[in-house]
Amino acid sequence: MFLKISLYISLAIFLVALIYKVSTWFRLKIGIGTAEILTSTRLFSAIKGILSTIFSIKILILLRVFVLDVLLQFRILREDFLRWVMHIFIYGGFMLLLLMHALDKYITVAIWKNYYSTVNPFMFLRDLFGAFVIVGVLIAIYRRFILKVPRLFSNAMDIYAILIVAVIMLSGIFLEASKMVAYSDYKRMVNEYSGLSDPGELKSLETYWVKEFGVVSPNLKGPFDEALLQKGKELHQSSCESCHANPQWAFTGYGVAKIISPIGLGIDRARLPSVLWYIHVLACFVGLAYLPFSKMFHIFASSVSLLANGVIGKEKLAPANRATLQAMELDACTHCGTCSLRCSVAVAFEEIPNTNILPSEKIASIRALASGRKLSPQEFGSIQDGVYLCTNCYRCTVVCPVGINLQDLWFNVRETLLQKGYPEFLVLSPLSFYRGLMKEESVPKDYEKPLIQAREAIAAQCDLLKKRDKVLPLTAADRTLQSGLNLSAQAKTFSVCFGCQTCTTVCPVVGNYENPQEALGLLPHQIMHAAGLGIRDLAFGSNMLWDCLTCYQCQEQCPQGVHVTDVLYELKNLAVKRAREKTLQPMERK
Ligand code: SF4
Ligand code: SF4
Ligand code: SF4
Ligand code: SF4
Repeated sequence: MFLKISLYISLAIFLVALIYKVSTWFRLKIGIGTAEILTSTRLFSAIKGILSTIFSIKILILLRVFVLDVLLQFRILREDFLRWVMHIFIYGGFMLLLLMHALDKYITVAIWKNYYSTVNPFMFLRDLFGAFVIVGVLIAIYRRFILKVPRLFSNAMDIYAILIVAVIMLSGIFLEASKMVAYSDYKRMVNEYSGLSDPGELKSLETYWVKEFGVVSPNLKGPFDEALLQKGKELHQSSCESCHANPQWAFTGYGVAKIISPIGLGIDRARLPSVLWYIHVLACFVGLAYLPFSKMFHIFASSVSLLANGVIGKEKLAPANRATLQAMELDACTHCGTCSLRCSVAVAFEEIPNTNILPSEKIASIRALASGRKLSPQEFGSIQDGVYLCTNCYRCTVVCPVGINLQDLWFNVRETLLQKGYPEFLVLSPLSFYRGLMKEESVPKDYEKPLIQAREAIAAQCDLLKKRDKVLPLTAADRTLQSGLNLSAQAKTFSVCFGCQTCTTVCPVVGNYENPQEALGLLPHQIMHAAGLGIRDLAFGSNMLWDCLTCYQCQEQCPQGVHVTDVLYELKNLAVKRAREKTLQPMERK
């Protein structure tokens, strides 16, 4: 009764959580414009997309993706053989155990009429599938904690998933082993099924089972009489053999039974088989109830994601389906770390301890962002930095074994952050590569907005710009800059500038304007002067600083060897640092 109630409770939790999780795919808002799309519109659009795929030639693509990518996991095989073995062993072993062992009353019996869990091939297969899972889990532990695959982080979800699988598998194996050695289990079977009552026959059968089946008897110990064993064998063949294959076939349980046999009598007295049975069954129920909340949910979500992305290919999705797909992809991520291993900017993580630089870690933060959870300014800034360091190189999307279109996700998140109105200094230039890519998709005012906001945030910290009519004395920081103390050796070269203006003459940005001074403020040679004079605010507030393309023309042409581009670059970093410290920290982010 207790187990029945536990099963129903865990099933109910599983179903409610599953429905809730799937519903979030239609509710989470990640991209630009998703806020206006109704959940019902997203749902109908998805159903329409699924139906139009099923009743079209695309069904063949769907089947191909299902066999190659979902069942055989070819995408993982292409990337890493050891990981593929681990995945196939855990995933395949667990699914086969679920279907053939946990649901044997409903599935196995329906297929094989003569099914019995203690006869072959079923007994052998159960242990074989269990061994697959154990080997898979050992490989997972080896990769994460011994091999320490670079940039592969283990979060609480990863550890819980390994723990639950380990408890289910180990309790199952120890249960099988303890039942093999337990004398009371043997006695109960003999009483219920053998139909023997003669003490001599019972002794012969017991002798045979102690010798061949690993039962630990309080009455009998080897070496045994050959005649007794032969008699026991005959009795076994007539009474037990049809229901009991040789225990060696259950190789994992038998191996453990041999190890624990010296304490077999104690195990039986403590009724350990019953305890282990409860542990095993309850662990399965806990695993079932926890599945939708756990990392294991990706078994379901990543299969759907692979199928969806396989069918979509390079097709441009309708906004409603794009929003749904991206919400689903957040659940599909297996936190395998492959994207971080291949990411072009992941090396920056060695210097900047912000996990949001790594694509695999950014997913969790984006999930928090999309769920509407209130993030602290620090958390928000960390996501922003991570997202903006990305170079749009596309490598993460190519290698993701689940087929997540990470590129599209980063694009959407970036624009969402910008639409929220937080100044983002890394897009200060209208010539920023990323903003350039978004130009066609944006309305002109939305394209300009973040650039203006960021510049205003910088200018707001430039006291001199605010009080142009006053002569302000140089601050200590100005003097530090003037003496080049906080600049690199290359950037300090501004001090030898003699004002020939060659840098300004060759600059393509300057050449782009009829009246460059009006559009750009200080020109390159003037910025060198401002730095020389220690007037930081003038340099920081100049558009030239932010519109510089870092083409290095000025630096190459300078007759004095001034590293003009490097000076501009470092000034930019100083300005952003100051604006971040003074503007962003106390700012209440919406
Ligand atoms: S697109 Fe961005 S996140 Fe992806 S690999 Fe390239 S730099 Fe890394
Ligand atoms: S996004 Fe893809 S590659 Fe990256 S951790 Fe998730 S599943 Fe792995
Ligand atoms: S080219 Fe060199 S020396 Fe001439 S103004 Fe520019 S930085 Fe100064
Ligand atoms: S590096 Fe910048 S300042 Fe120098 S020439 Fe190129 S765009 Fe102009």
